[in-house]
Amino acid sequence: MPVVVRAACVFALALLAQTAQAQKPPPSQPPLWSTKPDIAAFERMENARLASVQRAIQQIAAVKGTRTIENTLAPYDEATRQLNAASYFSSLMQQVHPDAAFRDAATAMTTKVSSASTALSLNRDVYKALTSLEVSKADAATRYYIQRQLLEFRLAGVDKDDATRVKLKRLEDQLTTDQSMFDRNISDDPGIVAVTAVSELAGLPQDYIDNHKPGADGKIHITTNYPDLFPALSFAQSDGLRRRLWEAWTARAYPKNRDVLENMMQTRYEIATLLGYSSWADYNAADKMMGNGRNIAAFIEQLRAASRPMAEREFAMLLAEKRKTNPDAVEILDYESFRLSELVRRSQYNFDSESVRPYLPYNSVKQGILATAATLFHVGFRQELNAPAWDPAVETWDVIENRKMIGRFYLDMHPRAGKYSHDQMAAVLDGIRGKQLPEAILVCNFPEPTASDPGLMSYEDVVNFFHEFGHLMHHILGGQQQWAGISGLSMEGDFIEAPSQMLEEWMHSPQVLAAFAHHYKTGEVIPADLVTRMNRASAFGRAGEVALQNALAAISYDIYKDSPRDVELDAVTLREFRHYTLLVPLASDAHFYANFTHLGSYSSAYYTYMWDKVIAEDFFQQFDRTDPFAGDAPKRYRRLVLEPGGSMSANDLVKNFLGRPQNTRAFQQWMGEEFASEPPSEKPSVPSTRH
Ligand SMILES: [Zn+2]
Repeated sequence: MPVVVRAACVFALALLAQTAQAQKPPPSQPPLWSTKPDIAAFERMENARLASVQRAIQQIAAVKGTRTIENTLAPYDEATRQLNAASYFSSLMQQVHPDAAFRDAATAMTTKVSSASTALSLNRDVYKALTSLEVSKADAATRYYIQRQLLEFRLAGVDKDDATRVKLKRLEDQLTTDQSMFDRNISDDPGIVAVTAVSELAGLPQDYIDNHKPGADGKIHITTNYPDLFPALSFAQSDGLRRRLWEAWTARAYPKNRDVLENMMQTRYEIATLLGYSSWADYNAADKMMGNGRNIAAFIEQLRAASRPMAEREFAMLLAEKRKTNPDAVEILDYESFRLSELVRRSQYNFDSESVRPYLPYNSVKQGILATAATLFHVGFRQELNAPAWDPAVETWDVIENRKMIGRFYLDMHPRAGKYSHDQMAAVLDGIRGKQLPEAILVCNFPEPTASDPGLMSYEDVVNFFHEFGHLMHHILGGQQQWAGISGLSMEGDFIEAPSQMLEEWMHSPQVLAAFAHHYKTGEVIPADLVTRMNRASAFGRAGEVALQNALAAISYDIYKDSPRDVELDAVTLREFRHYTLLVPLASDAHFYANFTHLGSYSSAYYTYMWDKVIAEDFFQQFDRTDPFAGDAPKRYRRLVLEPGGSMSANDLVKNFLGRPQNTRAFQQWMGEEFASEPPSEKPSVPSTRH
């Protein structure tokens, strides 16, 4: 496939041209895996960081006389930097290390680090020291940092009596253990379906069939990892196969995670009530843009009303498609929506999503994503060849600006046994101006190119890739602050999906796609007409997707909005699927909560995705749709939204860029785009969760 090589080289040259004179990374900051630690060495590194945290805390306690930014906030921020680094590293190893024993050690370490973090958040001496800081001469970012930290201390319960603080500490530690367990149970359960005859794979792309040869038992094993699952749900003609895969996927980690989730709900309720809140949802919203639980419920209802009429229009088209083979059909089972959507795309939009994959081999896409980000953000990228990593597939890259290295990232992009099974960005190090370069990683599960297989991606994969890369750039560009505690994505948790969701729009641009989407065999540039049809087709189904995301947001809110005693998980899950979507859930969907990872990490804040989508579409209105790199919007955006990191409130970030608070006008327009322009088609209603 010489063409793939050529396309990749063009980008590599373009990137090199910008970066040939770049500085070497500072000797103090070697890549994460440079010492190739075994379990014992990993534990020593982590324990050394925890010891630094203790030293910094002692330094704060030892101050005599006036408390200053230098003698109090600086060591506090050092403790934060070390704690974060320890936490990032152990959480990452828990997700990606190929060896299960290492993952177990990392899981235990995550618990230990989190416990140290909780202890700091309940440390009354440190809290008092921060409250008595003289801040009148400090800059705005530093003052904001302190104010925010004091709020977090109070939310942790630092001003409660000793007995309550002991109890809170115990509950927080319990929560960490359960959260790790919840995630591990999901990644350890691949949800495999065995297929006896290759004929069952009819309809699937040839490369998919080639990649799924029968095993020693003569059966073909299909996992529910994304590269296995979603093509099967969209393309397999066998209804039985699609249904079995769906059931295997939604049953993962059940019943194990039922108990784990119930424990987390109980623990969180106890924490919230000890701190004077009536529910976890209220408590968890207190340091976010949303503010309280009532606002979450109101937002979900607002979106339901906004999306319902369009979702009904889309549903009618899906049902008409189903009636071509089942004339009496009156309902659509949720797993059927993928296949039906694909068929609607073909029949109504003249778009076959298979037709675009040959233009999207993994390596070209990767180079295209990097080149797009380089142009948009005015940076360069340079690969560090031969940097060691926990797996040979991992790549290490430098981010360069004005010949200086301003950050580093790692790409761990393909599925592996025991690895985290979704796609996400994770922080590796917080950036601190002049002190520590920001580092981050993408942990994804995209098709892996091999000598005989170009690793063709779906269009959705490409959009997801850029989405995750957007988080990564946000972490790095926002990682040039004075303090670790306001660096990168440290702002309110319900803002962080806005920048990434906005970037998804770049992957709809014919100009952007033409630069890297070249046919893996012929080298032909993706035809403009195909992109136009694809954009129309992918606009179809947005209202259904909003409805689905809303159902997930409602599940996430409902199980945390009250006393957990009153929550019946199976019933809540089915009820919200039925209430918010127009699809009929299978009985097995009742257990979906057991592998809904966000119920552990985001808890009641899954609404974040839709809340931020509203902001993202409002942001995108500031850019030129015909050329999203044009004008001063990219530079303004980088300066006003990304670079400040968490040094001001997210509401201020929004207002500084838009000149006003966000509203839903652009979002409404985005949702109905397929009906505004021309004929419709559907994006799969993915009860997949988002990152
Ligand atoms: Zn995301």
